[in-house]
Amino acid sequence: MLKGLLVSASLFLATVGTTLAEEALKVSKVVDNVYAIVGPIDDRTYENDGLNNNQAFIVTKDGVILIDSGASYKGAERIEKTVAGVTKAPIKWVINTGSQDHRWLGNGYFAAKGAEIIAFAGTVETQKKVAAGQMDALSKVLKDRFEGTKPVHASRLLHEARTTLTLGGETLEVIETNAHFPHDTMVWLPRQKVAVTGDLVYVDRMLGVHDTSSVKSAWAAWQELVKLNPAKIIPGHGEVCDLAKAKRDTGDYYDFLVNVIGKAAQNMEPLDEVIAKYADMPQFKHLKHYDTWHKTVMSRTYLQFEGQ
Ligand SMILES: [Zn+2]
Repeated sequence: MLKGLLVSASLFLATVGTTLAEEALKVSKVVDNVYAIVGPIDDRTYENDGLNNNQAFIVTKDGVILIDSGASYKGAERIEKTVAGVTKAPIKWVINTGSQDHRWLGNGYFAAKGAEIIAFAGTVETQKKVAAGQMDALSKVLKDRFEGTKPVHASRLLHEARTTLTLGGETLEVIETNAHFPHDTMVWLPRQKVAVTGDLVYVDRMLGVHDTSSVKSAWAAWQELVKLNPAKIIPGHGEVCDLAKAKRDTGDYYDFLVNVIGKAAQNMEPLDEVIAKYADMPQFKHLKHYDTWHKTVMSRTYLQFEGQ
């Protein structure tokens, strides 16, 4: 009886494992050869392999450029399968836009397959600082689906804050944003007028501001993005959108944080009064996680601007 139960339990687990690994991720065609892999806007779970963010890929005549590698070895395998559903071309380059787990912990999978991993030297420095904590936290969520994951860093380091790369006739500009983590970046495709923003832009859900984030840098980078005047934006989180939607869900919120909360902090208005005064912001209520994040984001912003 017990043996029978164990057998059916392991069969059940095996079935769940297979289903997950075979489940393709959601692909959204952005423009001709540019695609987004759009993750859910929920938290990291075992089922989503920590892929609660977006990746992007560009198909060139010399291979595929993947932007961000996912949160684990197995998640990376799933990303590769998803890309293979669109093109038979191999993944030649992987560019990391940042240091949060799901931007780079899949690097090892692609490196083992011969892809060149590319990032700013500063991004790699940040990744090295946060790797142990991220590995620990994620292994608890992904359990056996975290197997094989190792922190592998870029083999090709970029140094200029705005670097132009070309592959297979496609031009990319990698631009530092320093938004969510130090030395975060965005990727700009001038021909297609598409911006892959990494964690500079969140739509459909509330912007994340952590202790590692700089609201001031993000605000400056946001203005750079507006100047580029993208036709399409692949945000770090949420559906592919235009600049107007990115402004409504992220840009206007950066403006609010800097011009209202930052100013209040500089004017030494008491923190609790400031939070209470702006606790209710109807224009941002449509964003997922507003109820749990808005006050936290305001207070972290206040602390960044205090005494400046
Ligand atoms: Zn993120």
